Amino acid sequence: MEPSNLHIFFIPFMAPGHMNPLIDMARLFAAQGVKCTIITTPLNASRYQSIINQETQSGLYIRTQTIQFPPSSQTQLPENCENVDLLPSRDLTPNFAKATTLLQAQTDDLVRAHLPDAVISDLNLPWTAEIARKYDIPRITFHGTCCFALSVTISVNHFMPHANITSDSEPFLVPGLPDPVYVTKAQLPIRSMKNMGLHEFFQQVREADKKTLSAVVNSFDGLEPDYIKHYEKLTGKKVWTIGPVSFVNKDFASKSIRGNKSAIDEHQCIAWLDSKKPKSVLYVCFGSLCYFPKSQLFEIGSGLEESGCPFIWVIKDVDNGLPDGFEERVEGRGLIIKGWAPQVMILSHESVGGFMTHCGWNSVMESVSLGIPMITWPLFAEQFYNERFVLDNVKTGVGIGVERGFEWGEEDLVGVLVSKEQVKDVVTRFMSDGDEAIKQIKNLASKLGEMARSAVQEGGSSYVNLGLLIEDLLSKKKEKLDRI
Ligand code: UDP
Repeated sequence: MEPSNLHIFFIPFMAPGHMNPLIDMARLFAAQGVKCTIITTPLNASRYQSIINQETQSGLYIRTQTIQFPPSSQTQLPENCENVDLLPSRDLTPNFAKATTLLQAQTDDLVRAHLPDAVISDLNLPWTAEIARKYDIPRITFHGTCCFALSVTISVNHFMPHANITSDSEPFLVPGLPDPVYVTKAQLPIRSMKNMGLHEFFQQVREADKKTLSAVVNSFDGLEPDYIKHYEKLTGKKVWTIGPVSFVNKDFASKSIRGNKSAIDEHQCIAWLDSKKPKSVLYVCFGSLCYFPKSQLFEIGSGLEESGCPFIWVIKDVDNGLPDGFEERVEGRGLIIKGWAPQVMILSHESVGGFMTHCGWNSVMESVSLGIPMITWPLFAEQFYNERFVLDNVKTGVGIGVERGFEWGEEDLVGVLVSKEQVKDVVTRFMSDGDEAIKQIKNLASKLGEMARSAVQEGGSSYVNLGLLIEDLLSKKKEKLDRI
């Protein structure tokens, strides 16, 4: 049976950190001759349509099939609020979670009409597991993070090592892992969203995941071999590591339009980067959902200014303002992008020598894949676990020194977590050539980038795993046909 006989539905959760990698994955499958259908709502489809059109024009079978986002009357969300990054307030997160559950019936209709051979769907859409079961279709979960963070999460939930710890800042050992991993109570993801009333939603997510027998992960075998095995052993799931998936964005067009419309003219951005020395620019971006209080933005801006280093700073919370006269003072040395940045395009440029990141897993993988060392500044969710992975396991970054995260929705109450002096000191040391420890980190980052690149090339582990996954799905399809 030829791979083109296989038809897969991809159903992403509507947040950039979930959509970008799953759509990259769909494109990887399509490049292997698989028919791929992405199920999403109109606004989200429009963000990816030009990339999909480009793939279709090159002869691949990949298309989007839209389902309607529920109306405001049912969700109490503003009109067109179809992605987490469009929520005007964190308080609306539970409404958004509920809205995603209302997509079940339309998706069920599509699955019944097309009967795909597999469904690859986000962990946060637990009802997709129910649909897959109903029509006897294999479902594969997409988790959005790495096996290291998944394993730490399981250990924390199981052993509750924080239960008897009173201090927020005292590091404790997370037991049962391949390496000693230390975190503090203030860094646990359980704190974020704790008052959001999302308990039942996450309960459903966990239940659906338990019943799903395999997972696809944006990682590669050489990156976290012990944790891939560990996670498989703990959960009994088969893990397919097929990353870094962002490598599927090869040309200028797909790198620059990935995920959303850029807030800066891409050519202007490249011209700015071209004017800088190789590896001299620090790229500063905290993902798609960050929110800093005004006081913290001031400290970041002042620290970057005083560091004297060239930088690109992506600011999502533009309304919170910048230090007075900041943009004029840093003109030429600092490029400020207010809104969506073409991240993969920027990171791919030879002038970029470092990435200050919130450690969202996609940002970590994009950095790893391009051999770029990181300054880590986690904010919420599993990002502190990812930071541990970067600093202690692969050793391709330095920490900014943040001790705790922002609780989702309570950022303004927290104020400043990292001072301008910290920003200035870490950035200056990191971007200079003198320090032996930093040289070592940069060397390791560059070696890891080479490993990542080989993983996706023909014969590399991720390339082979993708082929094996396709074969596995084809044999499941054959078994099903034989049964009928
Ligand atoms: N991203 C981007 N431009 C931006 C912000 C984010 O291209 O201005 C992309 C980034 O490359 C990554 C994703 O959005 O693919 C963010 O995912 P990540 O896991 O890093 O963080 P999250 O946004 O989920 O916190």
